[in-house]
Amino acid sequence: MESFMSFFLKTMRILNRDKIYAETEKMMKKIKLAGYVPNISDARLEAEEDDKETSVFHHSEKLAIAFGLIKTSIGTPIRISKNLRVCTDCHNATKMISKVYNREIIVRDRIRFHHFKDGSCSCNDYW
Ligand SMILES: [Zn+2]
Ligand SMILES: [Zn+2]
Repeated sequence: MESFMSFFLKTMRILNRDKIYAETEKMMKKIKLAGYVPNISDARLEAEEDDKETSVFHHSEKLAIAFGLIKTSIGTPIRISKNLRVCTDCHNATKMISKVYNREIIVRDRIRFHHFKDGSCSCNDYW
């Protein structure tokens, strides 16, 4: 039998995940209003157009940034790292997020650091 506590912790994890997905959707809507256009060329090719948009919205760095936005206070830079190269869409979206939310976001990928601030990135889009 599963203990109440482990059931509770499991449920919390699921809720938390749903919350992060919901926050991500909200964040993406907000930057879309500010002019961001999803670049779905990085999405899985076999998906439908709408699914493509959703699938690029759910890239791990976007989820991590949305999580960072709810978990850290305003003005705190958000630092995330990833093992792979940042994709074009996440790079564009992160630039927009840094501007719309007025947050510095530092992403360390396999090759370099990206320091996003006021809608631009320290790599000047060469990476
Ligand atoms: Zn991506
Ligand atoms: Zn960059």
